[in-house]
Amino acid sequence: MPKSTLYQLNSLKADWQQQLSQAITDPLELLNLLDLDATDFPLIQQASESFQLKLPRAYVDKIEPGNPDDPLLKQVMATAAELDTDENYCADPVGDLQSMPVPGLLHKYHGRVLLITTGACAIHCRYCFRRHFPYSDNHSAKNQWQESITYIDQNTDVSEVILSGGDPLILSDSKLQQLIDQLNSIDHVTTLRIHSRIPVTLPSRITDQLITTLTSSNLQICMVIHANHSNEIGDEEQTALRHLNQAGITLLNQSVLLRGVNDCSVILSNLSHRLFESKVLPYYLHMLDPVQGASHFRVNEKQAVKLLKDLRNKLPGYLVPCLVKETAGEKSKLPLFEL
Ligand code: SF4
Repeated sequence: MPKSTLYQLNSLKADWQQQLSQAITDPLELLNLLDLDATDFPLIQQASESFQLKLPRAYVDKIEPGNPDDPLLKQVMATAAELDTDENYCADPVGDLQSMPVPGLLHKYHGRVLLITTGACAIHCRYCFRRHFPYSDNHSAKNQWQESITYIDQNTDVSEVILSGGDPLILSDSKLQQLIDQLNSIDHVTTLRIHSRIPVTLPSRITDQLITTLTSSNLQICMVIHANHSNEIGDEEQTALRHLNQAGITLLNQSVLLRGVNDCSVILSNLSHRLFESKVLPYYLHMLDPVQGASHFRVNEKQAVKLLKDLRNKLPGYLVPCLVKETAGEKSKLPLFEL
């Protein structure tokens, strides 16, 4: 490889890692940067104690200064409502810990398994259904993937492996390469699906080297990005997504339906259009998983179904996501239909 190209790649790599190390974790610093009044956000320090606030500066740039109701801010800002308790909300709302035959590998559905590759993310989303997940005991990189790879190798009906976390794109290119090579050597694995919020939270991570790594095998690659609002997809994010698409990676989106963020058919319609412009197809619109600390984001099923009907009246079918909820113990996500 020419020296200049190598230098360029190293600079890019350093760039995203540097941005990650400079992520904002102090709620007061975030308020200050956004010119917001602390009295509008009582108990933020207490609320961020059990789940630290974290967001890259690139994400801060997409939040409107002075607007406490900004839909991106609402996804990341710790709030007093997280301290409310509700008996219907728990630490493991989708039964992850009951579905782990080996540490860090979930086998819930036929033909596919999910690897918890890391506990780290570029951003901490307050509604995250894994916000209480015991990552230190349960991620598959702990033993260099070996137990997980052995399990997949022995289960010949598994054709698709899903990389999740945390965010799998936080891993270094060399770690990802090592994992992809191991999966590629298993004949019955044909598809690699990557769930990542990084394309819309830290787009500098989508380097040429990363794309080379992801497309280095015979596996079909699908990436599911997690965008909840069109404001999350600025020019830089759109460029990153188009690069992934140009490399032959199938791009889908899943959103979580969140009160105060995207519980409006106009907002969801705008998101679908922005995704399509960025070469991403809407896939799922998830009901909130009932995780402890996130009950204030809940939209009830009746409202959700009504929203979907409104969305269907605004958009062509290929831009309407499937409204689903996940219930522990079920063999698939459950779609919610209009009456
Ligand atoms: S990026 Fe994903 S895993 Fe990480 S906090 Fe957000 S929703 Fe949870």
